[in-house]
Amino acid sequence: MGIRTVEQYKQSLRDGRRVYISGERVEDITQHRVLGLTVDTIGAAYELAEKGDAKTKELLIARHPDTGEPINRFYVTPRTPEDLANRTKAIHTLMRQTGGLPFGKDIGTDCLNAAMAVAKQMGNKQYEANAKNFLEHLRKNDLHTCGAITCVKGDRGLEPAHQKHPDYYLRVVDKTKEGIYVKGAKIHITSAPAANEIMVVPTRQMRENEAQYAVSFAIPANTKGITFICRNGRGPWSDKEFHADRPVRELTEAMIVFDNVFVPWERVFMCGEWQHSMNIAYTFATFHRFTAISYKVPNVEVMAGCAVAMAKYNGLFKVSHVREKLADIAAYVETLRALADAAAMKPVMYGDIAVPNPLIANMAKLHFASKYHEFVKLIQDIGGGILATSPDKRDWDNPEIHDYLEHYLGGHDCTTEERLRMIHETMRHVASHEAAFHEVTTVHAEGSMAAQKMMILHESPLDKYEKRAKIAAGILPIGTKID
Ligand SMILES: Cc1cc2nc3c(=O)[nH]c(=O)nc-3n(C[C@H](O)[C@H](O)[C@H](O)COP(=O)(O)OP(=O)(O)OC[C@H]3O[C@@H](n4cnc5c(N)ncnc54)[C@H](O)[C@@H]3O)c2cc1C
Repeated sequence: MGIRTVEQYKQSLRDGRRVYISGERVEDITQHRVLGLTVDTIGAAYELAEKGDAKTKELLIARHPDTGEPINRFYVTPRTPEDLANRTKAIHTLMRQTGGLPFGKDIGTDCLNAAMAVAKQMGNKQYEANAKNFLEHLRKNDLHTCGAITCVKGDRGLEPAHQKHPDYYLRVVDKTKEGIYVKGAKIHITSAPAANEIMVVPTRQMRENEAQYAVSFAIPANTKGITFICRNGRGPWSDKEFHADRPVRELTEAMIVFDNVFVPWERVFMCGEWQHSMNIAYTFATFHRFTAISYKVPNVEVMAGCAVAMAKYNGLFKVSHVREKLADIAAYVETLRALADAAAMKPVMYGDIAVPNPLIANMAKLHFASKYHEFVKLIQDIGGGILATSPDKRDWDNPEIHDYLEHYLGGHDCTTEERLRMIHETMRHVASHEAAFHEVTTVHAEGSMAAQKMMILHESPLDKYEKRAKIAAGILPIGTKID
């Protein structure tokens, strides 16, 4: 098959999967008010690959490295900086052309790329073959994969083996000749209810007495014993909003419960090799932070654009304190872009797999997360109090008050409606329920800032810094070998 249509994708989700949202079982998620938006958001990527212009198709549809058949770009295992850069370009294009984040394959392949790289490092030919066969299955059927890493974790101060419930971290509870049985729950999993396959990776390093938790595998979403418990979301546009002429874009997360789920051996990529659990979690995190910084760039570009437009519509674009804030806003966006580009250009090779530069990818994610709230504050500052108190579209549409709004809410060099449209767009990013959701997401999704700092410390040449200081201080002689 290679490339599916959006209809084929939607049809594949009517497979008896067990999905709940707000306490209700959903039989057909494609028809659900909230979950349908997730399906449409992911579906938009299928649509673009099918109906986009020639340049877009060329980017989104790659060639199978062996057979030359068409495959989705995300199913190209990165071997070069160009492969990584193409992934970023595909994410940017999808976001800009669909108006959302059609995260249908990104996180799953972050997991699979890590599983492939680590299977090679383990020297385990069976796992290597399993990962390769799974990749071929994804390529052939153009499947949507989610990535399930984060365990519920219970008491964060305790190791997995010492938790009140042994399955606070997902674990293997039985092994047979045919496969393994797993139990536990993964949480916050983006777009999970609309995935065809769930790719599982350990959430952290496991020790010798935690071998049952060192498990990685892939499993279809409708497998017996799997239940999705989804976050509720905002639903379609309301008649109160000024909005663009396209559907709301949204990706629902879910807690995935694995209740004694059977996984055949051919779908297992790690089972008990606790010594390699750190490596797979770490390699996944590097791929995933690279994905994160790739999708954040188009996000923050739009937000920065809101600040520029609001400054102009308010007649303050040339005022010095506003320009100073715009400079900070631009510096935030462009630092992120530069780091994202650099992470692709300086990969680390794990065998023949190009892993984005771990130090730079983590620096980029830390930059993004640690300065985001300040960035939001600057946009709120420039936009003004109207971001909190704006009349809505229903007011605008009411002839009894429309003329007052038209008259009193005008700005500089724009129609009143343009100003209101921009106010509503800005509100969505910095003064809404969604905005608060994104503030939390920025801090936690793709790992907490503490996790990024750990990886930065691990990757940084601290010894080298120290030696240089000792040479400068005369403790070591000039000419001391540094590396
Ligand atoms: C919108 C969204 C989408 C997401 N999508 C996915 C996804 O698709 N797949 C996936 O697998 N995950 C996903 N995540 C999960 C994300 O990776 C986690 O939220 C993140 O790793 C933090 O874990 P946590 O939420 O359990 O927070 P916690 O672990 O509860 O962290 C809270 C704080 O405690 C600190 N902390 C935690 N444990 C310790 C410890 N032992 N010692 C010291 N400090 C500690 C953390 O650094 C942090 O500051 C998503 C999260 C969000 C918000």
